[in-house]
Formats: sequence, structure tokens, C-alpha cells
Amino acid sequence: MTRGVVYAEPDAAPAVEELTVDPTGAREVLVRVLACGLCHSDLHIGETKGWGTRFPILLGHEGAGVVEEIGSDVTSVAPGDRVVVAWRAPCGDCPQCRRGDPRRCSSQLRAKRRLHRAADGALLTPVLRCGTYADHAVVHEACAVKVPEELPIEQAALLACGFSTGAGAALWATPVREGSSVAVIGCGGVGLAVVQGALLRGAERIVAVDVAPQKLEHAFALGATDVVDASAGDPVEAVRELLGGRGVEFAFTAIGAASGLAQAIRMCAYAGTATLVGMPVPGAKLDVDLAADVFWPKVAVAVTHGGDTIPQEDFPFLAKAALDGRIDLARFVTSTISLDEVPARLPEIGRDGGIRTVALM
Ligand SMILES: [Zn+2]
Ligand SMILES: [Zn+2]
Repeated sequence: MTRGVVYAEPDAAPAVEELTVDPTGAREVLVRVLACGLCHSDLHIGETKGWGTRFPILLGHEGAGVVEEIGSDVTSVAPGDRVVVAWRAPCGDCPQCRRGDPRRCSSQLRAKRRLHRAADGALLTPVLRCGTYADHAVVHEACAVKVPEELPIEQAALLACGFSTGAGAALWATPVREGSSVAVIGCGGVGLAVVQGALLRGAERIVAVDVAPQKLEHAFALGATDVVDASAGDPVEAVRELLGGRGVEFAFTAIGAASGLAQAIRMCAYAGTATLVGMPVPGAKLDVDLAADVFWPKVAVAVTHGGDTIPQEDFPFLAKAALDGRIDLARFVTSTISLDEVPARLPEIGRDGGIRTVALM
């Protein structure tokens, strides 16, 4: 018997339930989930009454574990392998993949839906093809990414979403150049991972912006060279001033409010790039002066989904960087909880002063 966090219908609260698992199909992998981080997108699903996902929904998408069983035609992993469960798996067949740009793949490989509610047999839809607030997940082989066993499981889980989203924004979506200057707006788990990505890329100045002193402290510890308390005045002015009035070459916003992207654009130096990393709240409108803030300073505006990662290449790269001490994944795990505590803790995401809470199964 398997247990998991089920969001049964739009107005129901998520709850831990008993589940059943169908046999694993071709190119599918049964993963015994051992850890799953609490990421804002799972909260977003409740806030948007399902985010377009078919009910009942199995929550969780920042998981890692060990391969328990493989279906036919699986060649990349074997039982016993430690894996991170990726929600991205470039399809190889969409227009972007066919033109050789899998980072911008618009259609992901997926397993068939294999888990049911034990109570009524209803077929569950796993969030983002993962469903990792559960003891087991069935995922496409391409989504089971092998990482070294030496990487602690609660750190491995963070590679599945939050960390790779932030780090990937600076490493691969809009690659930060060595010696350049960077601003990061919003220093929760994703923003702090942008700081780490910029550090790996050799940025010379990394300015972290937030309203919470505790988050700015984390940013300093994780590689920011300067911090700006956005509650103390206009953060755009403060960042520009720190850079001798020029602004930064790369500005990232990891917050959902549209003001974050507007500020990122206005923080950019001539020909800089503003990257939207955080998922905007529905209906958010951008308020910028197109001539003064975008055209004349020639600011490029970019968007990344999950850091535009190629998980099979990028997760092992990040795992190695963590094991080599070039990034500090351990610092991101500020508390661990049990699967039973997940429903109550989801609404607390981002409010408890920590960086990441990880459920251990
Ligand atoms: Zn996520
Ligand atoms: Zn594709």
C-alpha cells in the first residue's frame, strides 16, 4: 500500500490518502520516493482551483528517491539507482526540439497515469507528471535522473524544481557572463538559487533584493556581494547606485508580482537582460515606460520555465557542484517534515523564514 497527498476536488483541502499503483508500463519507472520539497507551485494549484489539472490530483513535484522497478525498454536506470524526478523531459519532437533547442521544449515526455485512490479507484493526475508527495511515483524513464548516492536525499530533491529553476535561470536560460553584474529580486528558495547560479557563472557583483532581513542574510551567505532592503526605499535606485549609476547586466525577478519584472527592467544597465523567473499571479499587468525603460536602454526581457533545464544533463552537473562544494544545497534545507504534515504545511510556504521545507517519506 502506498500513501500520498490527494487534492480531490476544487473546494476540498488536500489530505493524505491510501493509494494503489498499477503495473509499470514500457519506458516507465516505479520510484520509491524518499524526499519531496514543498514548492510554491503545489500551493498555486490550490489557489487556482486545480491549475487546469484533471481531478483528483496527486500533489508534489520536487521529489527524489530510489528506483524500485523498471518497465520494459528502460535502459537508463536500474533498480537501486538514486534518482531525482524531473518534471521537464524534452520530447525531441516539438518545433523547438526539432530545431535543436530542447531547453525550450513545449511538450514533455510522460508516463501513463498509474496511481489510484484506494477508496474509490479513481485515477489520479500527478502534478506536473510527478505526484511525489507519495511513497511511490511512476514516471517516464526520461524523468528519472540518476544522481550520485553521496548527495543527501533531501538535497537531491531540491534539484527537481526550486533549485534548478533559480540556478538554471542564471546558468542556462539567460546565461550570466563571467565578471558581470547581477541583481536578484526576491530571495526565497528560487531567488537564492539564482544567486548560486550567478556565483557558479563567475558574476563579479550579485545584488540581492528583498524586504525580509533573514532572507538577505541567507543571500549573503550564499554568494551575494551586496544586499538591498526593498522596504527601505526604491530598490531600483539603490541597485543603480551600487553599480555607479549604471545598473546591472542581468536582473532576475523571482517574485510573482508584476512590480518585480518592472523593477528588474529598470535595474538593467544599457543592453542588459531582465528575466522573469517567478510565476506571475493570474491577471498581473506590466507597468513600464516602453520608450524610457525598454527601448532606449535596449533592455531584453526574457522568461524561463523551471530554469529551462535539460534534466538528464543539468541535474548531475548540479549534484556534482554540490558534492564539490561549489554550491551550498545543504543550506537550502531549513526544515524536514513527514508526509502526514504536508497538507498543513503547504500554506506556510515562504512564510516561516526558512528557505525550503522537505518532506521525508
Ligand atoms: Zn516547483
Ligand atoms: Zn520538445
